[in-house]
Amino acid sequence: MKKLSDILNQRQKTYSFEFFPPKTEAGYQNLLATIEKLATLKPDFMSVTCGAFGGNRERTAEIVEHIQNKHRILGVQHVTCIGNTREEIKEILDKTKSRGILNVLALRGDPPQDNPNWQPGKNNFRYSYELCEFIRSAYGDYFSIGVAGFPEGHVLCPDKEQDARYLKMKIDAGADYVISQLFFENKDYFKYVERLRKLGVRNPIIPGIIPITDYQNIVNFCKKCGASIPKKVHDIFAPIAGDPQKTISEGIKFAVNQCRELLKNGAPGLHFYTLNKVQPVDTIFREVRG
Ligand SMILES: Cc1cc2nc3c(=O)[nH]c(=O)nc-3n(C[C@H](O)[C@H](O)[C@H](O)COP(=O)(O)OP(=O)(O)OC[C@H]3O[C@@H](n4cnc5c(N)ncnc54)[C@H](O)[C@@H]3O)c2cc1C
Repeated sequence: MKKLSDILNQRQKTYSFEFFPPKTEAGYQNLLATIEKLATLKPDFMSVTCGAFGGNRERTAEIVEHIQNKHRILGVQHVTCIGNTREEIKEILDKTKSRGILNVLALRGDPPQDNPNWQPGKNNFRYSYELCEFIRSAYGDYFSIGVAGFPEGHVLCPDKEQDARYLKMKIDAGADYVISQLFFENKDYFKYVERLRKLGVRNPIIPGIIPITDYQNIVNFCKKCGASIPKKVHDIFAPIAGDPQKTISEGIKFAVNQCRELLKNGAPGLHFYTLNKVQPVDTIFREVRG
């Protein structure tokens, strides 16, 4: 298996899919079938999230291993630092290494919902950049490291300039590339890239794309993660909220236009949040991949 940093150096654009580890056996079987179908599209990589507060890590790693061994597609394991001590993180990464996984997305994660005021102790990493530093100091260049980026600023840091400086700290700490949070206004992404370039960040900033399949769900999700929903999205999707078929078909149209504009204007690829489903990502991907 290759490192994603090498692939990003070789290819102008990459295409990728993100999955989450399901909680049930039925969900797991469904995910394997989804991976099997989306693998036929030959994406450059597939990434797998880890559960809130570091939950389900074993499953995350197992799925990444499956993607690599069965489908020969490069896998990226998400690793969060919140909720685990430095020693535990070291054990997790040792296992990741022994499984032959070369690519990690280094994240802070979020406090648990039932304990939103959870604070890291002195044996925890507080921020993702500390995890990046740790990975580089403990493993050198063994892993390719990705980090999360927030085109509109992270929900806890609405000062976009400051948030961009925090992103730069992750790059300086050894991150190779950035995957963005979802957004619906491309100009937010392009302005973000511009802010980062001004700070000297030259690394790929891969836009994260979520197709809209359910208006109310997306409204709720964006409220939580701090992504804004532009008026044009409300105008298209609110009136058809009760019609799943129309919502999916408008969601495909919207995402295809969004992706085409991103690619045309220099985005280094697309990272799709699949929600473990083949559709509508399969259709969108076939429409937009050059
Ligand atoms: C592509 C992507 C994948 C994700 N995958 C997962 C996943 O698998 N599992 C999961 O639980 N969550 C995941 N998340 C969610 C992520 O963990 C949360 O958004 C989290 O709140 C922020 O993570 P981070 O790594 O960006 O944190 P950080 O970069 O540490 O930032 C966290 C907050 O601290 C601020 N900050 C950063 N550095 C400093 C500093 N030096 N001083 C003061 N403030 C600072 C930032 O502005 C921000 O407000 C993902 C998000 C994205 C965009």
